[in-house]
Amino acid sequence: MSLLDKLDAVAAARKALLPEGMDVFGIPVGQIHSTTEAEIGGRRILFLGTNNYLGLTFAPECLKAAHEALDAEGTGTTGSRMASGSYGGHRALEREFAEFYGVLSCIVFTTGYQANLATISCLAGAGDVILIDADSHASIYDGCRLSGAEIIRFRHNDMADLDKRLRRLGERSRSTLIVAEGIYSMLGDRAALADMVRLKDAYGSVLLLDEAHSLGVLGATGQGLVEETGLIEGVDFITGTFSKSLGGIGGYCISNHPQLDQLRYVSRPYIFTASPSPATIASTRAALRLLRDGTTLREQLWSNAHRLYSRLHELGYRLGPEPSPIVAAILDTPQQALALWSGLLQHGIYVNLMLPPAAPDGKSLVRCSVSAAHTRDQMDFAGRVFAELRATAMS
Ligand code: PMP
Repeated sequence: MSLLDKLDAVAAARKALLPEGMDVFGIPVGQIHSTTEAEIGGRRILFLGTNNYLGLTFAPECLKAAHEALDAEGTGTTGSRMASGSYGGHRALEREFAEFYGVLSCIVFTTGYQANLATISCLAGAGDVILIDADSHASIYDGCRLSGAEIIRFRHNDMADLDKRLRRLGERSRSTLIVAEGIYSMLGDRAALADMVRLKDAYGSVLLLDEAHSLGVLGATGQGLVEETGLIEGVDFITGTFSKSLGGIGGYCISNHPQLDQLRYVSRPYIFTASPSPATIASTRAALRLLRDGTTLREQLWSNAHRLYSRLHELGYRLGPEPSPIVAAILDTPQQALALWSGLLQHGIYVNLMLPPAAPDGKSLVRCSVSAAHTRDQMDFAGRVFAELRATAMS
């Protein structure tokens, strides 16, 4: 098969699954009306599939900081930090993140995807092992590939399986990196962190936790699962993103290990890409302050999450194992998921559609992401539409 034939095969597979003219992936979004509403297909639609957990994308403090940075420092840095230097904002944000977690150091990356790519591929290399949860995000899988280490998957959140695989590694467990997510992006469940920390200590491995979906969501000050469980000391490296609770774009890694700083000299996803723009850094710094003080926002977020999860559960939808701002309905077939997804859009609700192989274990998911900015009425409206579409989803 020629190189271009392979892409034709991709197009044909997509066409076989999706009705003519329905562009499910990359849907054109028109005017943005607010944090939770936008125009799609000429109609006002409720956003229930963005990761705007704290609803900060229009926070006046963030907008003001971004505008000022844009005026003072321009639209972009036009280079990587190694080549073109670190702006004051980059260094300040790294200090602020380290201080927020009470750790030694932080590195800021251009995206959360790159934070995982950079950290994982530099911590482990040829001859080492990386043990990852089967439901891991693509950035974790790609970081593993870039590392050249042996990749072993353990069953999703199954600590007996992780234990078994560590035991089998024998001495090699000492050169093993374990990777988990604070809240898993697919089903919204939390990592079994206490058991994981116990296992990594017992086997002398290193633990990296991706708090992409739990930053701002869990813990009194929003640090994530490490704060909710009081286990920050047990986790070696934490990565995360600015693109969800912080309402921007970028990523970070924090650690108490002084070795973290060496990534700046060896990590290709850090060295060979332009650094975050001044406006991005400025809005993220403002958002981090709001996140730390965001107790009320977290209360609203969790109230909305519980409301939607329990309504969908009552209606008989098969959901992830626990309530969370990610409320994923698990469908038996891609066709059912597609019918539910398009039914929701016709009723004015935009959510995420995840089909195999993007979703784990051949599952098809219709995934909602709840925000603190959603109103009670919006949650109830979503509940009514899911009720109306229940038969579609089950047939
Ligand atoms: N980790 C996880 C678990 C994610 O879900 C995502 C984004 N969906 C990322 C990392 C990457 O974040 P970013 O959007 O900043 O690249």
